[in-house]
Amino acid sequence: MAEKMCPSCHVALKLRESGYPMGSSFLKADRVHVDIYECPECHGIRLYAAESDMVTCPKCGSLHSAKEACAVCALNKALDEANK
Ligand SMILES: [Zn+2]
Ligand SMILES: [Zn+2]
Repeated sequence: MAEKMCPSCHVALKLRESGYPMGSSFLKADRVHVDIYECPECHGIRLYAAESDMVTCPKCGSLHSAKEACAVCALNKALDEANK
């Protein structure tokens, strides 16, 4: 992966958090995962779309972070429980 550079300081940004889920967990369509980088000079925060850690759920085929359980399957399971 190429190093991310701060556009104002021209130093390499440090990765603070990778695959961070943004947006509501209830609105799956609006949910994106980002890598959060911080500049060690000006402490500016920059966000990039997460490049890694995405997996395809074998059950429903939706894309989600490898760090998290599948939101679609979790919702389906909750609905199944409610219908019992
Ligand atoms: Zn900077
Ligand atoms: Zn799933």
